[in-house]
Amino acid sequence: MMPGSLFVVAAPSGAGKTSLVKALVDSMTGVCLSVSHTTRPPRPGERDGVDYYFIDDAAFETMQQAGAFLEHAQVFDHHYGTAREKVAGLLEQGMDVILEIDWQGRRQVQARFPDCVSIFILPPSRETLERRLRLRGQDGETVIARRMRDARTEISHYNEFDYLVVNDVFETALEDLMAIIRGRRLLRLRQEERLTPLLGELLLSRRPTNS
Ligand code: 5GP
Repeated sequence: MMPGSLFVVAAPSGAGKTSLVKALVDSMTGVCLSVSHTTRPPRPGERDGVDYYFIDDAAFETMQQAGAFLEHAQVFDHHYGTAREKVAGLLEQGMDVILEIDWQGRRQVQARFPDCVSIFILPPSRETLERRLRLRGQDGETVIARRMRDARTEISHYNEFDYLVVNDVFETALEDLMAIIRGRRLLRLRQEERLTPLLGELLLSRRPTNS
């Protein structure tokens, strides 16, 4: 079976990346999201094993030493990492896998999977970004101020990504993400194997009939 494709999706906090990716996974078959490990404490409503695997510093360190991460990075004051084996297993099953990670992680993933597809999600304005961070109601003022500063750093890496999607109207941004995945699936190289019988039939040379 043809292995699936790897997609990296990055964005500054508050750009709506998590909601978009969730809707994407719900809307398309054959797409799944890799659940990262983090040392960050859960926010209200976040569930272990669903939003993240919440682990402590020692457990993170052990995984890192064991080479269990495909990529890992420190973002804000916490560590985040993608488990290598899980992703490899999903790709082997032919699933398209989405990694919701930061720009540092994208660099490491691209080094190991040079044909991964990377997407950067932008907010429509700085003002909207700040409003969305506040509306989330999950972080205090100090954290919001810090996240606004860090957003600038994250956005400054936009030019390392293959695609840019502006999340102004949610449905439009979702359609854009779906189009990127469809485009990837339509590549000749990814379709040739599956379409071999059709191509064989279409290219069959027929002997001329007598009538
Ligand atoms: P948050 O704490 O808001 O969920 O995520 C903070 C940042 O960490 C986001 O930019 C998010 O994409 C990034 N992040 C989440 N999981 C991973 C991961 O496994 N690896 C890397 N490199 N970044 C991650």
